[in-house]
Amino acid sequence: MTRDFTGNFTQQEAIPQAGIDAALRVMQHGRLHRYNVVQGEVAEAVSLELEFAAYMGVKFCLSVASGGYALAAALRAVGLGQGDKVLTNAFTLAPVPGAIANAGGVPVFVEVTDDLVMDLDDLQSKIATSGARHLMLSHMRGHIVDMDALMAICDASGVTVIEDCAHTMGAKWNGVLSGRHGLVSCYSTQTFKHINSGEGGLLLTDDAQVMARATMLSGSYMLYGSHEAGAPDATFKDISLDTPNCSGRMDNLRAAILRPQLAALDGQAQKWNARYRRMEAGLKNVAGLRLITRSEKEHYVASSFQFTLPDWNKDKVRDVQKRCATRGVELKWFGADAPTGFTSRHDSWRYVDAQKLPQTDRVLAGLLDMRLPLTFSLEDCDLLAAIIREEVNAAYQAGI
Ligand SMILES: *Cc1c(COP(=O)(O)O)cnc(C)c1O
Repeated sequence: MTRDFTGNFTQQEAIPQAGIDAALRVMQHGRLHRYNVVQGEVAEAVSLELEFAAYMGVKFCLSVASGGYALAAALRAVGLGQGDKVLTNAFTLAPVPGAIANAGGVPVFVEVTDDLVMDLDDLQSKIATSGARHLMLSHMRGHIVDMDALMAICDASGVTVIEDCAHTMGAKWNGVLSGRHGLVSCYSTQTFKHINSGEGGLLLTDDAQVMARATMLSGSYMLYGSHEAGAPDATFKDISLDTPNCSGRMDNLRAAILRPQLAALDGQAQKWNARYRRMEAGLKNVAGLRLITRSEKEHYVASSFQFTLPDWNKDKVRDVQKRCATRGVELKWFGADAPTGFTSRHDSWRYVDAQKLPQTDRVLAGLLDMRLPLTFSLEDCDLLAAIIREEVNAAYQAGI
């Protein structure tokens, strides 16, 4: 038996020194609000928006208070009406159905596949049966569905796609950056995502009307003219007075912290993926354990790691989770009867009418999930994989 693991699964890296220095400058001058600038000054929030728009190759970018805020604002900005249905993943995190509810929508859940992406056959049939005109697609845990096929389905049926890229900042499908397929894409800069400002979100689109509405929603007053990565002033003509102010702006302090992290994103992605591959290599050919198959077209940024124990008895999965926990390996299980931490799932969200999702229930019953912070070394990943391998083996031999 290898030794136990002593690392901390929730410990992210420190903010880079350039971010700390920039944050200190903002605090020294005191102009933390994005619209509080002196003559000739470009707010940190504006610079962040310009830089992220350039990185993504998109026309417009808006920084906001959280990823969940961006998702709700996106739905309102594309014209979702009260009570309208919104297709979304049955396997995602609570802020996604929460954002739909916040925007007055009603979630319609789409099944997940064994490889943790949206089931496109189920999507097609639920577009037909629900009559929904909007899809909020969550690239949950960084697994990217065949985006060419998904967009073909949605375009053919007039479904507007909003992408939740909380776990795919910097990732690509078939050479196209994640977030460049739908009409709007939303990112989170919350501590456990790819860039960290504690809380924060970003919203992208090429559509000037949508961006103008999102900007007004975020609480622009009539100061939208300073949004250099925003919609042209003329677009606001009617929108500015017809759109409510639902304050949710990002401040200059957070933006200052994020800018150096954005510049380092691609390098960080390589580090995450190196860790992911070490985990994957260490868990190959373990009886009873299924690794997630990933398409060659998917260029992921693997800030977390998942595997499944397909068709195992629930008690046995719980047993593996416990065995690993006693050895310092924190696995989150999406099959437990009651959610703990972030493991809620479609049947935990009781503000939504119950929906039958047998395939998702089967997949989640055996799904284990692990954070992969960059404070873990490659050797840490070898140890983590060895412990999981040993404990899955032991449980498997005792019978599943
Ligand atoms: C974190 C997260 C969000 C929203 O992020 P917040 O910034 O915490 O509101 C949305 N979707 C998924 C899948 C997430 O993990």
